[in-house]
Amino acid sequence: MPKFCSKECEEQGTICDFCEFYDFNGDENGAYTGDGWCNKFNIQKEPFEGYNCEEFVCFRINKSIWKLILIELLHKMGGIIWRKIFMFMNGIT
Ligand code: SF4
Ligand SMILES: [Zn+2]
Repeated sequence: MPKFCSKECEEQGTICDFCEFYDFNGDENGAYTGDGWCNKFNIQKEPFEGYNCEEFVCFRINKSIWKLILIELLHKMGGIIWRKIFMFMNGIT
């Protein structure tokens, strides 16, 4: 069963980039290196993958507010872009 932090999160659905088990593996500038990793299944995963994953756990669950703010800032641009690519690839408008 996927675990979501909120109703809005649930509506957006599962995606590796927002999953507790995902390592984005960004470089020193925060740019994606093409080597994202799922620590649950121990396989390489792109940030926009993870659609309908049963093991998804939203990264916001059990995080302090300061850590959340930092993560949100780091993810702000990348997350929006990946989510758009994901939605485009899955034909969601
Ligand atoms: S494959 Fe599933 S468990 Fe792994 S990072 Fe993606 S959403 Fe999370
Ligand atoms: Zn969430």
